[in-house]
Amino acid sequence: MTKWTVEQLVDAIIQHTEKEYNKSIEDATPEEVYYVISQIVSRTINKSWQQTEKMYHQHKPKQVYYLSMEFLIGGLLESNLLNCGMRDQCNQALTRLGFSPSDIYSHEHDPGLGNGGLGRLAACFLDSMASLAYPGHGLGIRYRYGMFEQRFINGYQTELPDYWLKNPYPWETKKSEEAVEIQFGGNVNMFKRRDGSLEFTYENTDNVLAVPYDVPVVGYKNKVVNTLRLWSAEPVNTVTQTKNDDYYRELENNHSIEQLSGFLYPDDSTEEGKKLRIKQQYFLVAASLKQILKHYKTTERKSLIHLPKKVVIQINDTHPSLAIPEFMRILMDEEGFGWEKAWDITTNVFAYTNHTILSEALEKWPIDMIQSIVPRLYMIIDEINERFCQGIWFDHPELRDKIPKLAVIADDQIHMANLAIVGSFSVNGVAKLHTDILKNQEMKDFYHLFPDRFNNKTNGITHRRWLLMANPKLADLITDTIGPKWIKHPRELTHLLRYVEDRPLLEKLGQIKQENKQKLANYIHKATGILVDDQSIFDVQIKRLHEYKRQLLNIFHVIYLYNELKDNPHLEIVPRTFIFGAKAAPSYYFAKEVIKLINTVASIVNHDPSIKGKIKVVFLENYNVSLAEKIIPAADLSEQISTASKEASGTGNMKMMMNGALTIGTLDGANIEIKNLVGDQNIFIFGLRSEQVYELYDSGAYSANDIYQNDERIAQILNQLRDGLVGHHDIEFKDIYYHLLGSNDPYFILKDFDCYVETQQLVDQAYRYNNKWLSKSLINIAHAGKFSSDRTIQEYATGIWNVKEIF
Ligand SMILES: *Cc1c(COP(=O)(O)O)cnc(C)c1O
Repeated sequence: MTKWTVEQLVDAIIQHTEKEYNKSIEDATPEEVYYVISQIVSRTINKSWQQTEKMYHQHKPKQVYYLSMEFLIGGLLESNLLNCGMRDQCNQALTRLGFSPSDIYSHEHDPGLGNGGLGRLAACFLDSMASLAYPGHGLGIRYRYGMFEQRFINGYQTELPDYWLKNPYPWETKKSEEAVEIQFGGNVNMFKRRDGSLEFTYENTDNVLAVPYDVPVVGYKNKVVNTLRLWSAEPVNTVTQTKNDDYYRELENNHSIEQLSGFLYPDDSTEEGKKLRIKQQYFLVAASLKQILKHYKTTERKSLIHLPKKVVIQINDTHPSLAIPEFMRILMDEEGFGWEKAWDITTNVFAYTNHTILSEALEKWPIDMIQSIVPRLYMIIDEINERFCQGIWFDHPELRDKIPKLAVIADDQIHMANLAIVGSFSVNGVAKLHTDILKNQEMKDFYHLFPDRFNNKTNGITHRRWLLMANPKLADLITDTIGPKWIKHPRELTHLLRYVEDRPLLEKLGQIKQENKQKLANYIHKATGILVDDQSIFDVQIKRLHEYKRQLLNIFHVIYLYNELKDNPHLEIVPRTFIFGAKAAPSYYFAKEVIKLINTVASIVNHDPSIKGKIKVVFLENYNVSLAEKIIPAADLSEQISTASKEASGTGNMKMMMNGALTIGTLDGANIEIKNLVGDQNIFIFGLRSEQVYELYDSGAYSANDIYQNDERIAQILNQLRDGLVGHHDIEFKDIYYHLLGSNDPYFILKDFDCYVETQQLVDQAYRYNNKWLSKSLINIAHAGKFSSDRTIQEYATGIWNVKEIF
């Protein structure tokens, strides 16, 4: 990429503004300047993008395709500037022109094309693949409405539609010439050819055009630009009929076609049995496979037998697992392969990542839905199932009684996880504990059948966005201390360990955290009107709202502290600011009640002068990537308190650790690996372990009611929920009260409460010793290199994909 000087950038900004807006730079709005810079950066990127594609055509490296229903990419301007090596110059150029860089960057609207962790992981992976020079691309859907925008009205969550394409999106390029046609529904006819093989034709299908929009994925200062291809649904033909009736019918039909890429389902943990969701999944899969095969055929000109040497397709959870039968369909019906050959190719191309063991999140689609939407795929899935079950019957008699659990089709439903396991050469979990649970509990019988298929790839995050970009001062301090090598090799952060007793460095570390906290405090004041004490502990829980993530446990601790302070206003605690960010799925009633509870507690606590501002509660609206970038650099304490065994990995834990926050958490997901690195002294671990959780479920020995009877603190809190909180007797939370006691507290909130409170007291004590705390903070940063997604992608590349860097 051409190197830009500050002067050149200043000139380019002035000229572009004049050309585009017919304005002098003094009159340009920040939004116009945002577009101008995006254009300048896009042009720079485009050259490398073309060169990268040309190189892929010439050298024909094996390609990775990452299929995902979600890509939560966040803002691209600043990260593209950073990866192009233009950020510092651009900041200076903007300052010289009288603009605040962060103000300009804030005019970018986050494309909310994902729910949470799973979608953000896909985005971090794209960044790492490009930065490590792997030929890897993302394939997803260009939802016209992304993740809803969250507002609080009266403390309740309300959802506003996110029409993120209202203004032009400067990073996408429409590639009409590469559109492909997809067929849905209809009838399948079967003919026997003369040679005995079968031919399938379709009639009365609904056809849809999948139009790609490409977004560049810029590698860090290496001139590699890969592609995120997002498919948009359009009618195949524009309206041509003249008869009135048909005209309106066709318009209506077009409308329903466009619904295919109309909106993102805003639920990240329960599978909703909706036809439209299946159609979206097939739409992504069918369009993507067509493109992948087209690319293979134009570059290789070889039989598809060799395809597994040149193509690997990673499916992000089961959402894209219809790709497996769709690929079989293409190989057999269009390419003329017999079943065995087609199956051999297919099962050497697909690799599946499992993201959850929550049973309510495991996708199961009713047979009749699949039959009506993709009739030919149903036939193929049925045969996959038949052959698989027969294989067990004959080759694994010891598992005969497990067939109903292992089958791809059971109880008139298609079990997508089973389909994904059977049809892939690799099945990976996303943290050590999670993979162990897959192997030894949830997918034990599959592991017995396919021991070599299962492997672990602990998640990671891109340290470029989450440290270099989001926390530039900390990044500079690290570079000043250990040199810049860590930026390309984040494991080198461990060199910081030499400084854990270095007073001057710790002081600087403390200063930077303090500045970040002041900045966040200003933002909080602007956004909510709440004044927070920037000397207080910033205690942060930011993630989707879920029972298993236990925001309820956190707010119970707040209520407990508040009750204590009311009893004894002189209680000596380190002041704390509890910061929440979380969206609840619109149909998840309990999660929404928890939001209302947190907001209610916030309004009580924040307005009670008797507690002298010792605690404050802030629930920031509309948690998304750009808000995460504001909060994380300012976090002192990272709340990772899921019920053990339920959080597959977590990545928020990694982001905050990398920014110097200490974790309070359960032995769940990647917390365990964090603990093993930083040591018990530098993390706050509490609560049931996953084995204990399983034991209590199995034995039925747990009684929430016993705890309610015996722990006065809990009795007080639960009664407050039942009867209304102090000064707010008109609002009660009976449903939470009855749920905890009536359903026997399925996530062990009451069970873990006592040790959580105790551990929070340890946090309070530890924070008083400023230097020790800072040294713990530094130790966390020093070990965060392992959690760079560069390490994760390296492991996928060598352990699953068998792909090489292009240089
Ligand atoms: C990292 C991230 C998540 C995932 O957070 P967890 O704590 O791992 O659940 C969700 N949403 C956004 C916007 C993120 O950046």
